[in-house]
Amino acid sequence: MGGPRARTSDRVWLVYLLCGLFLVGCYYLVPAHDAGLVLRVVLYCATSASGAAAILYGVRRNRPRPRLPWLLLGVSQLVYAAGDTSFYVSHYVFGATTFPSIADALYLAHYPLVVAALTLLIRRRTPGRDLPGILDAAVLTVVAGMLSWLFLIGPQARSDAPFLAKVASAGYPMMDLAMLTVALRLILGGGRRPVSFVLLSANLAAFLVVDTLYVLQQLAGTYHAGNFLDAIWLSGNLALGAAALHPTMSRLGDRSPVRDASLGPVRLTALSAAVLIAPATLLIQDACGAVREIPVIAGACAVLFVLAIARLAGLVADQRRLAITDSLTGLRTRRFFEARLPVELARARRTNGSLALFIVDVDRFKSINDRYGHPAGDQVLVEIAARLRGAARAEDVLARYGGEEFALLVPDTSQDELPGIAERLRHRVARGPIAVAQDYWVAVTVSVGTASFPEHGVSPSELVATADRALYAAKAAGRDRIVVGDGPTGDAAADGHSPLVDYLCGVADEVDGRLSSYDHSRAIGRWTMRLARELGHDDGVVRCAEWSGRLHDIGKIVLPEEVLTKPAALSEEEWRLVRQHPDHGYRLARLVPGFGGVAQVIRQHHERFDGTGYPDRLVGKGIRVEARILAVCDAWAAMLSDRPYQPSMTDEQARDELRKGRGSQFDPDAVDLFLDLHERGLVGQLRLIRPVVLEP
Ligand code: GH3
Ligand code: MG
Ligand code: MG
Repeated sequence: MGGPRARTSDRVWLVYLLCGLFLVGCYYLVPAHDAGLVLRVVLYCATSASGAAAILYGVRRNRPRPRLPWLLLGVSQLVYAAGDTSFYVSHYVFGATTFPSIADALYLAHYPLVVAALTLLIRRRTPGRDLPGILDAAVLTVVAGMLSWLFLIGPQARSDAPFLAKVASAGYPMMDLAMLTVALRLILGGGRRPVSFVLLSANLAAFLVVDTLYVLQQLAGTYHAGNFLDAIWLSGNLALGAAALHPTMSRLGDRSPVRDASLGPVRLTALSAAVLIAPATLLIQDACGAVREIPVIAGACAVLFVLAIARLAGLVADQRRLAITDSLTGLRTRRFFEARLPVELARARRTNGSLALFIVDVDRFKSINDRYGHPAGDQVLVEIAARLRGAARAEDVLARYGGEEFALLVPDTSQDELPGIAERLRHRVARGPIAVAQDYWVAVTVSVGTASFPEHGVSPSELVATADRALYAAKAAGRDRIVVGDGPTGDAAADGHSPLVDYLCGVADEVDGRLSSYDHSRAIGRWTMRLARELGHDDGVVRCAEWSGRLHDIGKIVLPEEVLTKPAALSEEEWRLVRQHPDHGYRLARLVPGFGGVAQVIRQHHERFDGTGYPDRLVGKGIRVEARILAVCDAWAAMLSDRPYQPSMTDEQARDELRKGRGSQFDPDAVDLFLDLHERGLVGQLRLIRPVVLEP
């Protein structure tokens, strides 16, 4: 029911337009004498007033946002119709032809209302300032203004008509110029152009043309009421009424999605042609032997020249902005960065100052693309860029250096400030997970390589090369870390690394990612190292504890995913598989030269203090100390994270569980130390991570 009815009522504008045009036809058919005169006046004024009625009705029906422009248009049309009524009644009925009359005052009063309405509409439609649109409209307005002065306003001013008549007849072209300015802004600016927009533009065009013809006819003394100009005025009124009745009128105030209109071939040709009108006029006048108004034409040429230069300057500025701004992240481009580096370096050298360079590379970014798709990857890059920007100062140069690589240039920064800044960058990015889709987040880490002038290099290429090497070292040491210059990081985990260890860390991350969204093994690596150190063990034991913590679960990589993530209780056979993971881990870790101890600890991390664990049923101090520490840390992490087979516990519940297992499942000393360190906030905190896909 609603459909067809809605469709019929949607055509009200067309019915209105056609009926209106029919009445205009009738207007010309009615003889202009006797009773016909009255009918003519009624027909004319009714058609003109119908515009106002149509607008007010359209506002009620279509509920435009904002309403004010349309209300102003409605009022302007009312004033205009009042002018028409006054003019035609006095003209036809009373034969009065004085100029100017009340009608002229009313006519002239309607223009500012139209200008105000259109200005409001333009401001709603155009985001920002749209300087190019304003300049283009200004060019056309200046040309129109010059022509108007030469052919309309000037002759009026020079005529020997009474003062009021001069004012009124110059008023029309001036008001038309004001209206032309906003009309051009509306038409040249961005925004939707639905049917209602076209009808509104037709109304403006009709008025601009007919007003000009009217003044020309007045000047030539050929105007008489009821000639063809009336048809144009009335059609203009009808177009405005139809524009308000059309359903699309409610969307004319919608904001344009693009910031400003581009300088396409059509616009460029139109603007060039318009600009050439001024010198062409001079040439024509010269050819006719009647050069006049040279100051006006020269002034117009000068203004047009300035406007053209301003437009060009805007285009150049736009191009420059595009060249130095990365389109995805809004950071500086690599090109800009490479141009600034030597400049900053020269400045640092001149002032005996320093300069720091940071190269930030997203860890395993490819896996985000692979898992969530390229657009999600882009989204992550945008967020990382925003986080890095938050960590940089306004005077620093932050650029997108490559696909998922960023570079930061920090002036006046000495070598000892490098680690602090690099860590700040790393932390900012890792601060929280990043949304890649609805309900999907990834935790992202970065590696940072940094170098400073003059310590690590004195030329741009040296500085970049050192920072690059440092970045490579950070990647090789396991990622999610910083490396300064060519030196070590001081991070215990960085020693003894090899591509194989690197790979096994990836395996550990992969297992973690499958089990939960926490940095399970990284966290355990940190805690076991802490506990081993607190217990006073030497560096060898501390390192062994750390690495076995980091890699303890790598054996789970051989488990089928269904078993690993099974929410229900495991079958006998599945349990058998699960219980093999310490042995698989042992076999994998043993492949790393120097990791014999680490491999043993991994094998023992499910042994219980009371001898009921697996796989070897070792008892008490027969279990390696690192494995006894690891068992506590591992249990804590498992209790604190949501696993497919069990929800997480509160800290208090987990502390109770550790106490219950003291002496049975766990080494009592390890439990006591862990609880103590946890109470002091030194261990036991898990961080969210992103799932990692192993690369082939
Ligand atoms: P790592 O740096 O930790 O060694 O691993 P990675 O996976 O981050 O390193 P790699 O250099 O192998 O991969 C970088 C990936 O970044 C490859 C490319 O598909 C992706 N990438 C580069 N530019 C863009 C981009 O503009 N958008 C998206 N979505 N991905 C990009
Ligand atoms: Mg890379
Ligand atoms: Mg990367």
